[in-house]
This record gives sequence, C-alpha cells and structure tokens, in this order.
Amino acid sequence: MNPLPAKRKVVLLGSTGSIGTSTLKVARELPDEFEIIGLAASSSVESLAAQAKETGVRHVAIYDASQEATLKSLLPTDVKIHIGATGLLEISTLAEADIVLVAIVGTAGLYPALAAIEAGKDLAIASKEILVMAGEIITAAADRRGVKLLPVDSEHNAIFQCLDGHRGTESEISRLILTASGGPFRTWSNEEIAKVTLEQALKHPTWEMGPKVTIDSATLFNKGLEMIEARWLFGIGMERIDVVVHPQSIVHSMVEFTDGSVLAQMSRTDMCFPIQYALTWPRRIKGALQPLDFPKLAKLEFEAPRTNDFPAINLARRAGLTGGTLPAVFNAANEVAVDAFRAIKITFPGIWKCVTAVMDAHQVTPANTLDAVVAADHWARETAAVAIAGELSKI
Ligand code: MG
Repeated sequence: MNPLPAKRKVVLLGSTGSIGTSTLKVARELPDEFEIIGLAASSSVESLAAQAKETGVRHVAIYDASQEATLKSLLPTDVKIHIGATGLLEISTLAEADIVLVAIVGTAGLYPALAAIEAGKDLAIASKEILVMAGEIITAAADRRGVKLLPVDSEHNAIFQCLDGHRGTESEISRLILTASGGPFRTWSNEEIAKVTLEQALKHPTWEMGPKVTIDSATLFNKGLEMIEARWLFGIGMERIDVVVHPQSIVHSMVEFTDGSVLAQMSRTDMCFPIQYALTWPRRIKGALQPLDFPKLAKLEFEAPRTNDFPAINLARRAGLTGGTLPAVFNAANEVAVDAFRAIKITFPGIWKCVTAVMDAHQVTPANTLDAVVAADHWARETAAVAIAGELSKI
C-alpha cells in the first residue's frame, strides 16, 4: 500500500446527494486534512456549480450530457468540465487524486470505481451497488493494485473500526453483526404492513437519507444489500454475517471474535462520523462532531429481525451464498420494485414479491467481468418490469 499523504486530495462522485453534501460538510470542518479536487453529479447542475465555486475545484463532471451548456455558463472558464460516462472515468483517474469517494446512486458508479482502483487511487465506498454487484472484481482489483477500500456506510465503517482497518484476521472472527434500525414498521402487524403507504415508508425513525435508501430501510432490503457488501469488504462467508435490530441506531455494528468477545462501535446518528473516519483513516482527528452523552441515552435495545414478515434478509443470504450474478439480480430487481412502489404501481409487500420472482427466474452465471454483472442487471430490470406489469399489478 502507498503511504498516505498528510493532506489528501479527494474526488467526490455524487456530490449533490445526501452523502455528497455531508462529505463537503466534513471537508469544510477539516481544511488541513482534505482538499476536494473534483466533483461529479448526475444532473443537479446548479448545486454542482455552487459546490464547485465554494471548493474551488478545477474539475467537475456531469453525467447528464444535456446539462453541459448550462454548467459551462455557471462556472469560471478555467474549470474543466467532464461529460457523461466518459467524464466520470476521467475525473475518477485524475493524476493528483489520492482518494475517490463514490456516492453515486445506481450502477453508474461501477466503471469509475474500477477505473479509480486501476489508477492506484484508494476508494471510499458509499454506493452499495459497487460491492453487491461486483464485489469479486473490485476486491481482486484492489488487492492486485494495493489500494485500500474504505467503507463509508455506517455499518461497514463500524466493522472496519472494530477490526482496526485490517482484513485477513478471518480465523479470529466468529461473526459480523450488522445492526438495523428495523425501520418504521418494526412493530406493525402483517395486515398493517400489507397496507403501508408511500408517505409512511418515506419517514425513517432515526436517519436522514435519500428516498431509495429510506424505503430500503423500511423493507430491510438495505440490510440485505449491506450483508452482501460486508461479505466482500471483510472476506467473511455469508453464513457468518448476522443482523440484529437495534432501534436507537447508536451501535452501528459489531464484530464477535472466536473468544466470545464482541467489539461494537457507537456514535450519534450522523453520517459525518463514518465519512470523516473513511477519509482520515488510520488517524482520528478532532472535528466538529459531538460525542455521545451516555446519561441522556435512555436505553439501547436489541431484538431479532422479523425475517418471515420482512424477507429481504433471507433473500440476501440466498443471493450471497449462491454468488455469481444473483446478488446483482437481487439489487436490480429491488431498484425496479422500489420505483414501482414509489409510482404506486405495486404494494409494499409487492417489493419483495417482485424480487423473489425475479431471483427464482434467474439462471446464475459467474460474475467475473463488469460486462457480465451489467448484463445480469439489465436482464433483472426487464424481468422485474414484466412481473410488475403482469401479476404484481394485481396485488
Ligand atoms: Mg447503512
């Protein structure tokens, strides 16, 4: 691994989303630690231009090519604008970058993530799709190039902290225990779950997040995706990855070791904590974040997830144990189903019915190239759309 420079130069993909704006907040508090040198967004051109002016970056990328002229009109002439999928690859491999933080929703982050690794950049991962779809490819490339994969997701960042940043201590670990808030319907009856509305699903009890992740937290698909991510990030078999519901979201995840000891990581529910640690690792830096006030925490509760009523965890385990293209299919079918639920085309339980139907219909193949996983992703999207237009529209 390359020695880590004192002041890291960071390229931020997905700068206008929830993780992106939190990353800029962390960077603003710690100007001696990071310099943001590149920003990329999908289509929010005005926010992107404002961020570019604030940070003084010389490189911006916009995925939606139709926004090029608008972006150009909003920026100083010496800022280089990178366009479309190629633009994402260019900005991810800038010679001066040390770390690329990928927080792009969906599959658009896959190719830039791999390009950054191949260019020798450390990768801070906030986009679940990268490891869920292409965990085998990404971890092999990172090992080969000697670059670090730094988890931004709070659960994986917690496990990363409990393992002190090391992979390869697998024989001393008995289980990784991901905590889940349980979502807003944790205590609802089956009859009530069947009637969940979009508005209800968009209200998360403890975390502020974008709409896709909020619905995934309500269905527990978010936790399923995180189980598959953990399998790749920490090189641990799916059978040793467990989930426990912890409604307060103070313990962000835990590692149980072979001697029976458990290490847990705790902090307030603020994504700035894992973002800061991913970017300052292996150092801990005093920023603006406040520690927990233990006397004010009334209690920390833990309970088993309702896996029969919320089948996402079992579906994820099946996808992770089977491997190959099935995790990519699990992810893609869920994305299409969530969109259909947001468009009021299917019910809340229709989300997991859709994913189950698409997984059952899939012929699994090896996931050893990005083209293979992207092909499985496309197949799953088409199959899910057909299922939603047919049988699932009636439930
Ligand atoms: Mg998470």
